[in-house]
Amino acid sequence: MHDPTVFRSMHFERFHGEPAIFVAPGRVNLIGEHTDYAEGFVMPVAINFATLAGISPRSDGKIVVYSENFREERTFEAAALPVKRSGHWSDYPMGVVHVLAGEGHRIPGFSLSLWGDVPLGSGLSSSASVEVATALAVESLVGASYPGPVLARLCQRAENHFVGASSGIMDQFISVNGKENHALLLDCRDLSFQLAPIPDRVALVIANTMVKHSVAGGDYTTRRAEAEEACHILACHRPEIRFLRDATLDDLDKWGDEIPPNARKRAKHIITENQRTVAAAKALLNSDLHELGRLMAEAHWSYSHDFEASCVEADAMVNLAQDLPGLIGARLTGGGFGGCTINLVEQKAAGTFAEALGGRYAAQIGIVPEIHICHASGGAHHYA
Ligand code: ADP
Ligand code: MG
Repeated sequence: MHDPTVFRSMHFERFHGEPAIFVAPGRVNLIGEHTDYAEGFVMPVAINFATLAGISPRSDGKIVVYSENFREERTFEAAALPVKRSGHWSDYPMGVVHVLAGEGHRIPGFSLSLWGDVPLGSGLSSSASVEVATALAVESLVGASYPGPVLARLCQRAENHFVGASSGIMDQFISVNGKENHALLLDCRDLSFQLAPIPDRVALVIANTMVKHSVAGGDYTTRRAEAEEACHILACHRPEIRFLRDATLDDLDKWGDEIPPNARKRAKHIITENQRTVAAAKALLNSDLHELGRLMAEAHWSYSHDFEASCVEADAMVNLAQDLPGLIGARLTGGGFGGCTINLVEQKAAGTFAEALGGRYAAQIGIVPEIHICHASGGAHHYA
């Protein structure tokens, strides 16, 4: 993570105010893809890449936000907050400000600096880390203190309604509630969660395919709509199915013929993924890494074949990892169509694994991937 001392002086030199500093991590999802909006289960991990937010009050009624990543500053009037997005990075912090103002907080003028080492736009949720770090910073300024799950919901609202990106609750929730050396099994229905320890000897190797395809008709929104269509048809037969979380493979067997083929496949992925995610948490709690790896592989091919949200590069990254020493399990993580794979790897083999995987991928695909060896870190907090 970036050095908070350097960050502190950077903020001070720019704004001439001593900042309170907050940090919020990015995340990687071990298993449970496209299950969050189906009120199902996900099992993310907060990672040791994070965004720092430094905040200090101003007396001129202005809100000035600066991102060191973009080396750019934007100014707003606290008394006339923007009410809609501008398509700029400042939408993320200002979305949070907008939501907090909507909660009834009077927002004073302040200076906010942001600096993150979560790779932007790689599926490791730099966006949630910016939102959560900003939320903690602004919260401290206005004297609010929301419980973690509520804060996560507020940040999700900023992303959904202000930034305009439809996403579930996972990213913000894990950024707020992550725990060092643990994965978090989250029930997206009621936000109850269970922590599962990740053994010391396991490293999280995140491999960026460096591609992000925008497939015509193949994005997050269409997949979500297809899943919802399948759910709707099943619910006609069994009204207690409010979300795919409530459906079973039995239901699909019985009524699948009425569902358009693509929607049926999406539903199959979500239903089986929910089962796998709960089983994966159990495997982790039992220290059964072999079973966890098996479930991750199954999840990848379900994501690739049934949900059709993988791509040639991601399938290659998963395949090329298979026979490398130290691999426990590998799959494409995040919204799909590119982005990163998550590889659970024996810690002592992680370095050679990363190097070999990078070499193989470059040779086969012709792109040099970014590979990060990470560990599970704690959730967002005030940086003393
Ligand atoms: P991901 O969340 O997977 O990294 P997104 O597209 O959801 O990708 O979010 C990336 C966007 O979040 C960036 O394009 C930028 O607008 C905003 N963002 C992330 N980190 C920062 C930062 N340190 N400073 C300013 N904006 C940031
Ligand atoms: Mg994001």
